[in-house]
Amino acid sequence: MNDTVKYVLDEGRIPKVWYNIAADLPKPVPPVLHPGTRQPIGPDDLAPLFPMELILQEVSTEREIQIPEPVRDVYRQWRPSPLYRARRLEKALQTPARIYYKYEGVSPAGSHKPNTAVAQAFYNKQAGVKRLITETGAGQWGSSLAFAGGVFGLEVLIFMVRVSYDQKPYRRALMETYGARCIASPSTETHSGREILAKRPDHPGSLGIAISEAVEVAAQRDDTKYALGSVLNHVLLHQTVIGQEAIAQFEMANDYPDVIVSCTGGGSNFAGIAFPFLGQQLRGGKKVRVVAVEPAACPSLTRGRYAYDFGDTAHLTPLTKMHTLGSTFTPPGFHAGGLRYHGMAPMVSHLQELGLISATAYHQLACFEAGVTFARAEGIVPAPEANHAVKGAIVEALKCKEEGVSRSILFNLSGHGHFDMQAYIDYFDGKLKDINYDEKELAMALAGLPSVAEPA
Ligand SMILES: *Cc1c(COP(=O)(O)O)cnc(C)c1O
Repeated sequence: MNDTVKYVLDEGRIPKVWYNIAADLPKPVPPVLHPGTRQPIGPDDLAPLFPMELILQEVSTEREIQIPEPVRDVYRQWRPSPLYRARRLEKALQTPARIYYKYEGVSPAGSHKPNTAVAQAFYNKQAGVKRLITETGAGQWGSSLAFAGGVFGLEVLIFMVRVSYDQKPYRRALMETYGARCIASPSTETHSGREILAKRPDHPGSLGIAISEAVEVAAQRDDTKYALGSVLNHVLLHQTVIGQEAIAQFEMANDYPDVIVSCTGGGSNFAGIAFPFLGQQLRGGKKVRVVAVEPAACPSLTRGRYAYDFGDTAHLTPLTKMHTLGSTFTPPGFHAGGLRYHGMAPMVSHLQELGLISATAYHQLACFEAGVTFARAEGIVPAPEANHAVKGAIVEALKCKEEGVSRSILFNLSGHGHFDMQAYIDYFDGKLKDINYDEKELAMALAGLPSVAEPA
């Protein structure tokens, strides 16, 4: 049989709606609380940061939300993304499992993130916004928003976590090529940045700090809004084009996944591939096992506490109930920058509490080993973040081999690693280490969680 099996949908099959899992949940997600009053917030509380259309999506319980035609038009450049059957990987592993991967690296920025960046830029433009501010870890989100801002004629300003700014000059160059401005965070441009630098001038930065800086600047001007690349409901929503396409592609393949595996930073690509399948299950369809894979050095789902916490270090954001390592937790500088966030999407956290998904954590060396195995078999070099999904899928495939059963495994290959080759160089040179987070720092960050009287 032919080695390469690729399931391609034509342009007409780009989803017309985003799928909102809130409509099918047995129990709603706990409310978002105001950081000052600690009472549930309303749409107006978020208006300084986001355009109203996105706020309404954030709180919507409608099952389907129409994708505007101008957004579908931009999607058309790379969507529907391909689904592959990883036959050469199956052979290399000598597994009876059927391994499929959805490849999101075909977007201009090289990951799933433009799926939401394009939508967010569109709604901001429509609301008359001139400038978007955001933060970025590894630079995947920053380059996606820089691309999308360019498409809709918006100025884009990006606070980039210091370690990544130094480690990944090509990502920064990409953002600048798209026309965005990029600042290393913590910076001297904001109150929250200056406060951190005063305590520790060589601070490596974190997503939590970069978010504080971005939110602070965005709140200062009426023509300026903030954009977030993960965690929030509307971001997860926009990513559901991935899973909806995968459902159609599995019909072409005459198969259905038994297991879905995806990496989790803030949870958006995980939600994107898994929620449409989980929705079918919740509406009485076939049951699917869903596994979130996170880095052992920043393990919010497996080691964090399910509690109300801030999304940022300076405590400017609303409080959401999520699996969190504490907003002051600074993860060690391992290579999957996109997974270095202290919290998990409230919606993903909620699904774990409901027992609808499970989570596991791996260290980076095992993930790079898996990524190299995958690249040698399939020819695509995964982003370090995506290596966590590859590792999770290989573990599932080897389980099938051990048990002598053929299960269908779907994983999301969230992005390519072409801008992350320094990480691969370090891996081949033996310089990459498995870094443990500091237990004392975690204990301190958890002790510092805000005390919140849970709304009834
Ligand atoms: C940002 C990123 C992630 C992690 O973010 P999620 O919101 O958890 O999806 C994973 N993979 C890639 C390639 C990324 O760029």
